[in-house]
Amino acid sequence: MVDIFLFLCEGLLYVAVMVALLHLRHLIGLGVFVAALGVLHFIETYLAAVFYVQLPIGSISPGSVVLFSGKLMMILLLYVKEDAATVRQPIYGLLAGNFLTVALGLLLQQHGGLITDSHRSADFAFLNEMGWLMVWGTVLLYIDSILIILMYERLGRHLRGAPGIRFFLCGATVLTFDQAGFYLALHAINGAPAEVFWSGWIAKMAAALFYSVVLGGYLHVLRFAPVNDPGRPIGDVFNTLTFRERYEDLLSRSGRDSLTGVFDRSRFEFLAPRLIRNATTSGNRISLMMIDADHFKSINDRFGHLEGDHVLKAIANALTLGLRQSDHLFRYGGEEFVVICEGLDPAHAMSRAEDIRQLVIGSVMTPDHMPVTISIGVAGAPADGETVNALLSAADERLYRAKKLGRNCVVGIQS
Ligand code: GH3
Ligand code: MG
Ligand code: MG
Repeated sequence: MVDIFLFLCEGLLYVAVMVALLHLRHLIGLGVFVAALGVLHFIETYLAAVFYVQLPIGSISPGSVVLFSGKLMMILLLYVKEDAATVRQPIYGLLAGNFLTVALGLLLQQHGGLITDSHRSADFAFLNEMGWLMVWGTVLLYIDSILIILMYERLGRHLRGAPGIRFFLCGATVLTFDQAGFYLALHAINGAPAEVFWSGWIAKMAAALFYSVVLGGYLHVLRFAPVNDPGRPIGDVFNTLTFRERYEDLLSRSGRDSLTGVFDRSRFEFLAPRLIRNATTSGNRISLMMIDADHFKSINDRFGHLEGDHVLKAIANALTLGLRQSDHLFRYGGEEFVVICEGLDPAHAMSRAEDIRQLVIGSVMTPDHMPVTISIGVAGAPADGETVNALLSAADERLYRAKKLGRNCVVGIQS
């Protein structure tokens, strides 16, 4: 009984911390979640190799039940909250890290002057066993991750709006497949009896149920709206996961504006609704700036279209320099740009807009060395609404006011 309670505590602690790290990714960066997932991988394999607890159903390892099952569910949660191009990063990272670990382990064993004392000496047999288990485990994890994501997508056709049930069905199926694969390896390495397969399987099913209830509840509390394109074919998801994607490739090539190199309007249409929905569903601030170059027509008229192009490039460069990593800059139209600032409230967005206005005036010149100026309208969620169109029209209306006020200025909600 105490052991079951402890398993529950371990699962709760694991899921609480990992979900918190993922939830706060816009604040602290996604790297924190991914690094935590990677660090846990070693102890997970160690526990799965040697740490077993005797329960009525048989001997169970927290490494497989809590950590491995949890990791698979976290990978699926990351996909649900982000997309295939994001989730493949930890999947490939774990694969690369494991192969590197094994390769380094083999080299370490070649050291001649190894110091051994009577209490602690390097256990190479164990290291090798762990190493191969880790390689086998991550190859399986790689297949598992792709399977679980494709299955989740496929189930979405029938069970849209029921992520908890989808989590359970995918988790239970893929963990069954995984248990068979992992047991084969354990059996080959240390002759594990069939009892190990069944007890591990029952425990993994319990883990799938536990994690599905918790994660389903979490998504329900967020009133989760799926951000993945509902019409996206399974083949495309698979291609993205395996880097064979056409979709992302198409997006990254056609998503750049050929003159300025910044993201273009099509990328804006794709990304902006996701960014805004992500921010508003998780209660984060997000702001949008609409930027228009002042009297740009006269630059074209006086110096020609080619010189106008140079000035436009210089404006885009200055904007890129003045913005942060978390800001997204798009060329929205001719000499109009839109910036989406994640995590920024309207007041801070105003001051960032003011910074870039000054940067442009101080660094972009016409061919006759006159400063080029821009006008900016700033809007923010939730104050101006929670959709792209609401933010765009508020920012556009303020940009119009900035032009009326004489240009070369920033207009926001309180101006
Ligand atoms: P305002 O201060 O009111 O914005 O004045 P404006 O002259 O900038 O007016 P408006 O925004 O209507 O004009 C935009 C001009 O930008 C018209 C067009 O010739 C020019 N333009 C749009 N795209 C390009 C481009 O790719 N290259 C060049 N050289 N000019 C462009
Ligand atoms: Mg314009
Ligand atoms: Mg203009």
